[in-house]
Amino acid sequence: ARRQGRGACLRIYEPELGDYASDRIHIEENLRKALKLGAFECHLQPKVRLENRRWFGAEALVRWRIGDTWIAPSRFIPIAEDSGLIKDLGRWVLWEAASRIAIWRREGLIGKDFRVAVNLAGAQIESELSRTVRAVLGYTQLPSRALMLEITETVIMQNPQETRKVIDELRGFGVGFALDDFGTGYTSMSQLQSLAIDEIKIDQSFVRALPDDPNSEAIVRSLITLGNGLKLDVIAEGIETEVQCAALMKLGCRLGQGFLFSKALPFDSFERALAEQREADAAHENGARFGG
Ligand code: C2E
Ligand code: MG
Ligand code: MG
Ligand code: MG
Repeated sequence: ARRQGRGACLRIYEPELGDYASDRIHIEENLRKALKLGAFECHLQPKVRLENRRWFGAEALVRWRIGDTWIAPSRFIPIAEDSGLIKDLGRWVLWEAASRIAIWRREGLIGKDFRVAVNLAGAQIESELSRTVRAVLGYTQLPSRALMLEITETVIMQNPQETRKVIDELRGFGVGFALDDFGTGYTSMSQLQSLAIDEIKIDQSFVRALPDDPNSEAIVRSLITLGNGLKLDVIAEGIETEVQCAALMKLGCRLGQGFLFSKALPFDSFERALAEQREADAAHENGARFGG
């Protein structure tokens, strides 16, 4: 019923339109309740070094559970943005991720250089953000160096001046910044050079097409060259296959994220995986010491 041709757009009483609007209001109302009731979960997806698959960091990805079903961020984040709820939700994700990483750091489960990344929506870019971030770091005792914030090119474009101000302020404080979904937006070379960011994330749409699509390969190659040239970390998103991983390594990419390594995990599963890695490392070290 959706594909009815152009005329359909003008029919205001189209049932789908009504459904869409009420779906939206419905989600917005439920978002509010969910925040109060604690129906969100913060999951973590590892960021890995491609050469040895070691987890050097993680990205926090919010999950919304209603009963047995999960609602995808793509369905509720835009609504949370429009309604302003993203500020509360974003603060909650930041708090969850930072406090958990701080605990694991204290327990020695992760090293001092392990960084957690939290996504930022456009509506969060304002002077209040820097106060919020500092308050969370203060309460959780997480050092600012252990936190990264991910912003997209679209977010920067929406409000370049304010974004620059917020980045400069937080970066002066030690927080890192990553440019998310890189390659899909319109960041100019001069902008990229003057923005104080630490990492670019090659969008998964390019990674998905590797290695068969020569155009994607050319784009990925130039993004890696660009990032390396500007002394930025370059991480490839959405790596699903060994073939993609090998192609990226051949192009000089050293960092990655994707289902090949792990999807985003609840804290307890993430913690178990960290503990297993630590045991494997210890066994390996002992083997090296005693095995000659
Ligand atoms: P993103 O920041 O670019 O996050 C990467 C998305 O790719 C995540 O989807 C992740 O689950 C997915 N992904 C990771 N590896 C693979 C892979 O190998 N294959 C495929 N097909 N997908 C992979 P997710 O969790 O559904 O999040 C979608 C987007 O929603 C995120 O894109 C981000 O823009 C937004 N988002 C998620 N959590 C938050 C949040 O806490 N705050 C804000 N502001 N935005 C969030
Ligand atoms: Mg991200
Ligand atoms: Mg991304
Ligand atoms: Mg994205």
